[in-house]
Amino acid sequence: MAKKSSPAPVPAKPASASPKGKAAPSRAKGRQPDRGLERRVILLGLLLLIVLAALVWAGGDSGPTALWLSDMENRPADRAALAGKRIGLISGHQGFDSGAICEDGRQEVETVAAIARHVERRLRRAGAQVDLLEEYDPRLNGYLADAVVSLHADSCIERSGFKAARWQESTMPALEDRLVRCLSESYAAATGLPFDADTITDDMTLYHAFRKLAVATPAAIVETGFLGGDWELIGRRPNVAADGIVDGLVCFFTADSAAP
Ligand SMILES: [Zn+2]
Repeated sequence: MAKKSSPAPVPAKPASASPKGKAAPSRAKGRQPDRGLERRVILLGLLLLIVLAALVWAGGDSGPTALWLSDMENRPADRAALAGKRIGLISGHQGFDSGAICEDGRQEVETVAAIARHVERRLRRAGAQVDLLEEYDPRLNGYLADAVVSLHADSCIERSGFKAARWQESTMPALEDRLVRCLSESYAAATGLPFDADTITDDMTLYHAFRKLAVATPAAIVETGFLGGDWELIGRRPNVAADGIVDGLVCFFTADSAAP
């Protein structure tokens, strides 16, 4: 490497040195090549730094670099919204049954458990206190928290869509509607799934856990998608589904502090 570009940076003899320089490489064998190499290393280092900075800058909040970094870093918005919050996560059907089961063995309980683990990890990283709860967890009775989200998934049919709901008999409908709205908007944005309002059932709006929680605990249930039509997302990319849930909580608590 040193030989190729060694003739160029000769300080003592400016213009006239060029034709002879080629013919007399032996002259350059002194201290000159070392300095050239040094310069090139510094230049290369600078170039690398510039490229890295450009990548981070161009990536913004959702670029590939940001996604790569996001798994290692705290997102500032997460910490601002979630630090110190107590959040209950019900991993649907856990400790009770398997929920929906498909012919090839896919199970609702395992699918949502994977999503719940990702949600839990990101919440904890942001400084939240997380209780991962089973479907009929005894701790649900009188459970007091800043929010509770129950995660479920729909049947194996080839339908696509998610939904979120709060208790039909809510004692704080405005607050819980906001939780549902935040979860719905963020989940749709993160996953690209449509909101499937047509299949909201009593199982959701009269969900058993809602009446067990402390009165002051806002709660929502999310059907994260269909084991059939949405498997590519909820089955294969549980981290993406989880991001939708956490983004929804960030929205809820951010709006919470901004509200009058
Ligand atoms: Zn379920």
